[in-house]
This record gives sequence, C-alpha cells and structure tokens, in this order.
Amino acid sequence: MKVGIFGGGQLGQMLAEAAKDLGIEPLVLDPKPDAVAAQVARHLVADYEDPDALDELTACDVVTYEFENVPTTALDRLAPRVPVRPAVASLAISGDRFEEKSLFRELGIATAPFRLVASREEFDRAIAEIGLPSILKTRRFGYDGKGQALLRVDADLDPAWERLGSQELILEGFVPFDREVSVIAVRGQDGSMRYWPPTENVHVGGILHVSRAPAGAVSPALFAKARAALEALMARLDYVGVLVVEFFQMGEELIANEVACRVHNSGHWTIEGAETSQFENHLRAVAGMPLGSTALRGESAMVNLVGEIPNLSDVEDEPGIHVHVYGKSAAPGRKLGHVTIVAEDSARLEKSLARVLEIVGEPTGAID
Ligand code: AMP
Repeated sequence: MKVGIFGGGQLGQMLAEAAKDLGIEPLVLDPKPDAVAAQVARHLVADYEDPDALDELTACDVVTYEFENVPTTALDRLAPRVPVRPAVASLAISGDRFEEKSLFRELGIATAPFRLVASREEFDRAIAEIGLPSILKTRRFGYDGKGQALLRVDADLDPAWERLGSQELILEGFVPFDREVSVIAVRGQDGSMRYWPPTENVHVGGILHVSRAPAGAVSPALFAKARAALEALMARLDYVGVLVVEFFQMGEELIANEVACRVHNSGHWTIEGAETSQFENHLRAVAGMPLGSTALRGESAMVNLVGEIPNLSDVEDEPGIHVHVYGKSAAPGRKLGHVTIVAEDSARLEKSLARVLEIVGEPTGAID
C-alpha cells in the first residue's frame, strides 16, 4: 500500500511516520528541497503542478494532503486517476474563509457575524453593519493569524485597508470568547466517526502556544453540540479522514471559527496522549482501514516550539514528557517542534507543564 502526500512540512512528516508504522509506504510531493518529511519518506522535489510528479503520485493507492492550498489544477488532474481523500471539494471550503463561514451558517452552526469585502465601499459598509471591534482577514491563504488586522477604533481602518485591501477579504465581528477549543474527528469510508475529546488552545500572536486535552471547561452537553456540528459538516462533505473545527467558547455557546480538512497542530498531543493518534487515524481512514480507538492515555498538554529550540535537557528524560524536533532551520515565527506532556491527572500535568513553559517561554517573532 502506498500513500501520496501533498506537502512535506511537519504534518507531512508525522503522517509519513504514522504511515510507516502501519506498513504503508509514504511518497511526499513538496517543491522545497529541504522539506522535513523527506527525513522519513521518499520525496519528489517538484512543483505541485508538475505533470511528471503528478504521474508518479498516480502510482499510489490513495493521495492525501497536509495543507489546504493545494492547487486545484493538480487535484483535478489526479482525481480521475487515483482516489484523493479527503475529497477535493473539502479544500474549496477550508481554504476560503467566506465559503467556510457560509457553509457553517447553512448548516446552522453559529459563527461570528461576517461580510465579504471586495472594495473600500464594501469595507466601510461592513464596518457600519458589524461595528468595532472587528477583524479584517484575507479570504484565502490565511493561517496562524497571518493576513489579519484587529480593528479596535476608527483610526485602525485606514492602515488595515492599506495593508490588506489589495486582496479579497472578509470582515468578522470580534468574539469576546472565554477560551478557544478545537474538536478533532475522523470519518471512515463507511461513514463511521470517532472523536478525540475537546482540546483547549491558547494562541499568542496568532500562533498556537499551548493545547490541553481534555478541555475541562467544555461540558458534556457542549461537546455533544460540537459533535453534531462536525457530523453535519462531514456528512455534507462526504468526508474521509481527519477534520478539525476551531471554536470560540462563550459560556455554554460554541462559535465556529475555522475548519481544517487535515490533521491539525491542536491534535499533536494525540501521538502520545491517545490510543490512536490523529495521524494514524487519518491514514486508516484514507486507506480504508478500520479506525483506531481515540481513548485517552491520561491528561495531555502540548507546547509548540516556535522560532528557536530551547535547551530542554532538564525535562526531556522525565516520564510523560516527549520532545519532537522537526529538523527545520530556525526562523522567527516558524514552528520547529513541540513538547507533549501526558500525566495521570491534571495536578501532575500542570506541574510538568509549568516546568516546560518556564524553559520554552512565549513564542516570539514578527507575525504579520
Ligand atoms: P484564525 O486565523 O482565524 O484562526 O485566527 C487566529 C486567531 O485570532 C484565533 O485563534 C483567535 O485567537 C483570533 N481571532 C480570529 N478571529 C477572531 C474573532 N472573530 N474574534 C476574536 N478573536 C479572533
């Protein structure tokens, strides 16, 4: 069995590792010669639309992806010749904030108020309707808080427009959330679904800093509501693989912010913290294998290593602490690795997490 993977970053690397553990041969396509998935998989160094590279991918049993901006021309060329999972239509949703929020609305899933903004007149009208504070975001190619401007007061409007106005945008009302929560699910080819417990996420400068699972403040009733939202989304998209929805929690309300049609940073803790990781279950789903148990192995936390790899020698050998270094060159704002902590109970978890955070500190680096 052979799986093709678009993208050779850390998600591709962890997918390739999980594939090999399942006896599946990974083949990664990424134009960057130093793509880190190449450390663990055969790597085609070619453009995503390169016809020869795409021909090589058709020799795989199934093709999947680790990022959402895969050129549709590449996928359209592949899809008639080899199964692409999740289906290509999912990418049209998750790579486009307007389509994504429109689908949430259509399925009755709560979102922040939003408007499409394609001109300065539309921007001014959207501000008049939604009010301040609000957030201006690029419609496409946004991730990790890139391509966004928080608008608090009227004086923020002109600079934000100057910076972002050349692209298609959406304006969103600011949600004064209590916390951010993601829910990770996997759906098999037979429509069976499994969920990991909700994960609480803390972002700094738009980049994920710390995740904790299970998110203690999410009641069983609220988690059930989230599951219903994911079930509706995955059924609509005829989805196969891992899908993640990021929500804002306000009291007993969940407001959907984003959907990722792929494995996700907030699910890295599942490698050690759950019986089956998001990476393994994604591969099981796309390869048509039975899904693995998502039961917990304890309470987990994950800390991203962003911009630089600190000296973790004081903690890395402790039981329950797992350091992952992706092998990328360091750059401000770049995700270089992560640390997962798994403990028997939350008191022990918080104690170990505090020690890791003392070493790691908060992410730094210029975020657009
Ligand atoms: P995004 O790229 O949409 O995931 O946004 C990055 C981060 O910005 C989110 O994780 C939130 O912390 C914050 N954010 C985005 N949209 C909103 C919103 N409508 N209200 C409040 N905070 C937001």
